[in-house]
Amino acid sequence: MADYLRPTSLDEALQALARPWTVLAGGTDFYPARVGRAIDENVLDIGGIGVLRGITAGPHGWRLGATTTWSELLEADLPPLFDGLRHAAREVGGRQIQNAGTLAGNLCNASPAADGVPPLLALDATVELAGRAGTRHLPLASFITGNRRTVLAPGELLVAIHVPKPAGDARSAFLKLGARRYLVISIAMAAATLEIEDGRITAARIAVGACSAVARRLPALEAVLVGATVESLAARVEASQLAPLSPIDDVRGSAGYRREVVVTLLRRLLAGFSS
Ligand SMILES: Cc1cc2nc3c(=O)[nH]c(=O)nc-3n(C[C@H](O)[C@H](O)[C@H](O)COP(=O)(O)OP(=O)(O)OC[C@H]3O[C@@H](n4cnc5c(N)ncnc54)[C@H](O)[C@@H]3O)c2cc1C
Repeated sequence: MADYLRPTSLDEALQALARPWTVLAGGTDFYPARVGRAIDENVLDIGGIGVLRGITAGPHGWRLGATTTWSELLEADLPPLFDGLRHAAREVGGRQIQNAGTLAGNLCNASPAADGVPPLLALDATVELAGRAGTRHLPLASFITGNRRTVLAPGELLVAIHVPKPAGDARSAFLKLGARRYLVISIAMAAATLEIEDGRITAARIAVGACSAVARRLPALEAVLVGATVESLAARVEASQLAPLSPIDDVRGSAGYRREVVVTLLRRLLAGFSS
């Protein structure tokens, strides 16, 4: 390793990033990507920066600090709006991975199969990026631009994920399909956030992952859900609404299988809201 730095303030980290460093959070993507070779890059460990830790609630929503782990999310006192993201958290690896791995690391690694992305898209999340020149906020949908690609500029850190408070009552859900029950990379996953008033949907956000280079929202499905009763949601899912997806064949499943299975996954996901 060239250099290792573990700053305790954000300012110190951003000053250090004037020269190239690889950011290390929980290391659960970082280390497996380097198995069998020496780490010869400068490593900036952000685990000691207090302002990046923890979940806080404000009048307009929630701030999830960048080094919030999956386990911290599961232990936090959060409303049913977060049920989908918490379900995803329970299925990210095993307990050791959930204890070390962070939500922001999952987003920055930008794997098409990152389980955190669909639920956060369905929560309309934004990301807060900080660099020496200042801070910028972006919708999550514009942050990840491709397989392992984000808009993070050199010298920038993802410092927080923000989840806006919905206008009314809202619930969310997540379903993941893997080749076995636990410790598995997703073949496909789906997340939904529904705002519900008097048993009818007033707003819907649906996202699917592992079926395109970047997880995608499904606007055509979202549109037909608005106004529907909670009991009638599953019947409104149709293959034609999957146009934003572009699944590929890989070792976990074929493109054709993914297209078929997503319809079933979405129907099951939406049927779950009536139970
Ligand atoms: C056994 C095992 C099972 C797994 N199972 C799953 C699974 O089921 N689902 C799933 O989605 N993932 C899974 N993963 C992947 C991984 O655990 C998650 O993606 C995790 O959330 C990554 O977070 P981290 O803090 O460990 O990231 P790190 O490994 O520390 O970092 C990941 C990448 O993001 C960058 N980075 C991290 N934080 C920041 C930041 N704040 N600002 C800028 N850049 C940053 C790093 O430079 C690096 O490139 C698994 C990994 C292992 C080893």
